[in-house]
Amino acid sequence: MRQVDINGLTIGGNAPVRVESMLKIPLSNEEACLSQSLELAKEGCELLRVAFPDIRFQGELARLIKAATIPIMADIHFDPLLAMAAMEIGCPSIRINPGNIPLRSLRDIVALASERNVVIRIGANSGSVNERQLRDASGDRASALALAVGEQMESLVSLGFHNIILSAKSSAVRETVSCVALLSRLYPDYPMHIGITEAGAGMGGIVKSSVGIALLLAQGIGNTIRVSLSEPPEMEVRAGYHILRSLDLRKRGINLISCPTCGRKRLDVRLILPILEPYFSLLPDGTELAVMGCEVNGPREAAHADIGIAGSQGGVVVFSKGKRIGGCAFEDIPTYIPVLFRAFSEGCATKCD
Ligand code: SF4
Repeated sequence: MRQVDINGLTIGGNAPVRVESMLKIPLSNEEACLSQSLELAKEGCELLRVAFPDIRFQGELARLIKAATIPIMADIHFDPLLAMAAMEIGCPSIRINPGNIPLRSLRDIVALASERNVVIRIGANSGSVNERQLRDASGDRASALALAVGEQMESLVSLGFHNIILSAKSSAVRETVSCVALLSRLYPDYPMHIGITEAGAGMGGIVKSSVGIALLLAQGIGNTIRVSLSEPPEMEVRAGYHILRSLDLRKRGINLISCPTCGRKRLDVRLILPILEPYFSLLPDGTELAVMGCEVNGPREAAHADIGIAGSQGGVVVFSKGKRIGGCAFEDIPTYIPVLFRAFSEGCATKCD
């Protein structure tokens, strides 16, 4: 598979699956845009899509590209002038919507993109499909969406341009999965951005996105992801890493194992987790942390955990790889846990007892 490079961020080939998000603030609010981009970078966002709907905001976009710590992808939708304007000010990647750009304009875009090593994402959604494509696909929406992407793809490739990421999204999970799987068979050499568009909010949105994204990743399809939520963008990034960790594709953050609790519980896991959570960032990426309701089954059920915390009579016991290494009374948890986590990250947690 080809690998593209957006200002040093590699996508495709042997690069890890990347996590993206999108600014949810208009470019006119320059200060807030920069601050959101920095927050997202802190969360682990690796590529930031920014709506560039109007040439009047070219200056704001230019300053954001310069000040942001992660690469920007300008979303120009269907306006070739905005594509040219974004590239002229040094934008390293643009997203275009297929089917809306005349061939003459596409030639200009490709010429400038080739000269400046700009990556073009073909980003299609259900709205990109026209009546003719739907007819050609015998009414099958997934195939029609793949056709819409394919036609744009052929236009770019016929102009000798290959610095491309493909993307096709719908708000329907099955439709998206079947369309993207088809595209990956047709164009196996090109990196793919995946996600479920307009997935919703909260748990419903996260579940819908996770199902769609995971079904594709499990087949080895997908090089960058976005969990599209009606929520703050930081949540999109966190959800993205949760999905990738669940599939052992990225290690950022900790892998939390917690028991559902049952009648044996000595510790209410639901209540203890919010107390522990502020200290998770003290642990190295990839740490497996188990929080279990009792010391009877907890350590056995999570014997492989790097750190296990299990409820016991009057407090908690702490274990590592199934072996007891410490513990404290309930009331000491807020002071004991940060010390334990720091000691673990410095490699001396076994001395915590
Ligand atoms: S760890 Fe203990 S409390 Fe939690 S589910 Fe297992 S037996 Fe029940």
